[in-house]
Amino acid sequence: MKRYRQVCRRCKKSWDEDAYRCPDCGGTLHSVYEFRDREYLKTMMKNAETFWDYRALFPVAETGKRITMGEGKTPLVAAERLGIEGLFLKNEGMNPSGTFKDRCMSISFSKALELGARGVVIGSAGNAGAAAAAYAARAGIPCYVMVPASTPSQRIAMIAHYGARVIPVEGSVTDCIELIGQVCETYGWHNVTTAAPYNPFQADAEKTIAYEVAKQLSWQVPDWIAVPVGGGGILSGIYEGFQDLLALGLTDRLPRMIAAQETGCNPLVRAFREKKAPGEIERIEHPQGIAVAIADAFPLDGETALAAVYQSQGWADDADDEEIRRAQSLLGRREGIFAESASAAAYVVVEKMRRSGKIRDGECVVCVVTGNGVKELPRIEGEMELPEPVACEISALKRYLASQFQI
Ligand SMILES: *Cc1c(COP(=O)(O)O)cnc(C)c1O
Ligand SMILES: [Zn+2]
Repeated sequence: MKRYRQVCRRCKKSWDEDAYRCPDCGGTLHSVYEFRDREYLKTMMKNAETFWDYRALFPVAETGKRITMGEGKTPLVAAERLGIEGLFLKNEGMNPSGTFKDRCMSISFSKALELGARGVVIGSAGNAGAAAAAYAARAGIPCYVMVPASTPSQRIAMIAHYGARVIPVEGSVTDCIELIGQVCETYGWHNVTTAAPYNPFQADAEKTIAYEVAKQLSWQVPDWIAVPVGGGGILSGIYEGFQDLLALGLTDRLPRMIAAQETGCNPLVRAFREKKAPGEIERIEHPQGIAVAIADAFPLDGETALAAVYQSQGWADDADDEEIRRAQSLLGRREGIFAESASAAAYVVVEKMRRSGKIRDGECVVCVVTGNGVKELPRIEGEMELPEPVACEISALKRYLASQFQI
């Protein structure tokens, strides 16, 4: 017996057969689960130790093969030296390929195999592409990754390292995703792009971040959750996860959602500032900035993300390159966490909100560190002076310590 039905967000029809889009109107599907066996689901939430322990709320067959390698179950670290009391960092950089995208790929590859896929394709700014490539390697199916031609070469190298076929496209990540939509059927590819309009199955993966955070905080709900927004899928998913927990009676409220973007690519933040309806977000012409992981010209899941921000009485703001660089460095030096620049943007917004008093004294904030900054080492290395070597000899070492560190 299937535990879920897919429901179209546009025409509201529901479907028993799995599909990537509404068979009637082409609208975005989402999975709606039976919550009848509440005790079973509550026990599942309390006892879950791994990502796949949440599978009763994944849109996959119980008996299918799982493509998994220890994704999820990431640490929630109390930030102690940033001067923001009550701040926790959810370190998604600990995932196998270094971002939360591994959660998404574990589900979308398991689903693609269940549906008989013999090849997959994805449009990505690098992180989802790397995650897809890694999971394709484990699934043993060919993987085509379309990335903006401007993607830093180390990200392309990582994707290629896992054996995927990289296709740099002269356009933004939004252009790549649109291009794929037009060729998918021709080649019989399954689209594992991490946006619900293209792959509704992976959209449930990010709910597990909420499940884990709630469990890690002993079922206390943080006052705020800060999330960097590219397409908006992760913010939407986390909010939905907290709604599940509330529906099950494991928690008693919802967190307020904070959306963070980069100044050079801030379509959702602009819509928020102009108090636009979730359906009225406008595409950005030329995305810019160092946070390439969130440089989506148009947020494909922006409608659900902005609705979550409004509904939760949340907030949206952006951070520029300078602020991001400084925050990225601060997270490394003060907390020992190597955050990707996209993730540092979320921290910048938390800092601003704390300073302006929007986040009040004593409030609990979770900042989702969505990705590992190690992927940005070439850029970071270029921005700092590397130390000169010293002769392997005691007097030379003493002179060196005196001149370099004044000791
Ligand atoms: C993909 C990604 C995001 C944004 O996720 P969306 O679901 O596209 O909003 C944020 N940070 C990192 C590191 C990412 O890879
Ligand atoms: Zn429909």
